[in-house]
Amino acid sequence: MPSPSPRFESIMFTAKRPPVVMVRGRGSWLEDEDGKTYLDFVQGWAVNCLGHAPPILAEAVANQAAQLLQCSPSFYSRPLLDLASLLVDKSAFARVFFTNCGAEANEGAIKLARKWGQKNRGGAYEIVTMANSFHGRTLATMSASGRPAWERLFEPKVPGFPRAHLNDLSSVERCIGERTVAVMLEPVQGEGGVNVASDEFVVGLRKLTRERGLLLIFDEVQTGVGRTGTLFAYEEYGIEPDIMTLGKGIGGGAPLAALLAREEVCCFEPGDQGGTFNGGALVTAIGAAVLRVVSDPEFLAHVRAAGHHLQARLKALSARYGEGEVRGRGLLVALALSADRATDVVSRAFDAGLLVNAPRANVLRFMPALNVTFDEIDLMIDRLDGLLRR
Ligand SMILES: *Cc1c(COP(=O)(O)O)cnc(C)c1O
Repeated sequence: MPSPSPRFESIMFTAKRPPVVMVRGRGSWLEDEDGKTYLDFVQGWAVNCLGHAPPILAEAVANQAAQLLQCSPSFYSRPLLDLASLLVDKSAFARVFFTNCGAEANEGAIKLARKWGQKNRGGAYEIVTMANSFHGRTLATMSASGRPAWERLFEPKVPGFPRAHLNDLSSVERCIGERTVAVMLEPVQGEGGVNVASDEFVVGLRKLTRERGLLLIFDEVQTGVGRTGTLFAYEEYGIEPDIMTLGKGIGGGAPLAALLAREEVCCFEPGDQGGTFNGGALVTAIGAAVLRVVSDPEFLAHVRAAGHHLQARLKALSARYGEGEVRGRGLLVALALSADRATDVVSRAFDAGLLVNAPRANVLRFMPALNVTFDEIDLMIDRLDGLLRR
């Protein structure tokens, strides 16, 4: 029998996609099968932190693939140890557990906090999370997320996630009770529309959680690995969380994420946590190559400078067309529109060869490669200008 021709209908319908097929990319540019190119300010959802197909990662893949892809979590591999040591050396945490995606890292953080609560807090298990937060799409991380659209989805949810509000410390206090074990938040809510946690709130939260003997969990799946202009966003607040999760950028496009914790919190015992692909040699070799580039102070200075440039140009554009606030940190930036037309702008941008994203009906989000050039930012602004002008 001849093999059937590939069809869009063979993909389970979980996302609206334009009827084009992407074939290759380089840096800030993505190209489809018809040869049309797109200036990419989404980058696989803040995943390709070094842009599309960076030669340094092609080399890391080729070298590692020729030696060892995977040896199961029953053994150490050199890349596994390299990446874990890099992360531990450059962060406030003592140990790392690698996962395949951000949701799985957060699932691990929830399990670790619950286990810690079993051992140290008389079985306390509740984790206070924030309205409009996003922590992933497993059942527990959906339950932890404060997404209004998910409230009645896949009931019954996993219990134990009372909801507070970002930048409202008293709302967190009201959620804390005998069963509370931790507070979990994104330092900048990404999917929620790029809402930045204030210094005052985060410092207050660290103080509050210390006083009450609770763990502070930072979901840095989107903000971590240079995205906000420091290696990890928590650094900008002058505090240290007890647990942190990473994802997205850490693999530079490969499926890799991580759960990190302070020594006192690392209470998993053999059998509590694991998975076939966790910490595989290929993906950790890629992660180590990414982290060596991104942790360079000069690279991080570029992220901050490019972020300032992007914000300044967006502010000027917003003023010209009477749009709303520009907010964010580093290269995680949003432009609030004066009306609910973000989806319309995104689809017209696509036609015009520009990829931007709309986390909310009136918000455009920009998350270019961290090595995006000023010229590419200017070109993006030119294209966006044409779309907002009308
Ligand atoms: C994307 C994201 C996740 C989920 O990561 P996946 O790799 O899609 O599972 C969790 N938390 C935050 C803050 C995210 O941005």
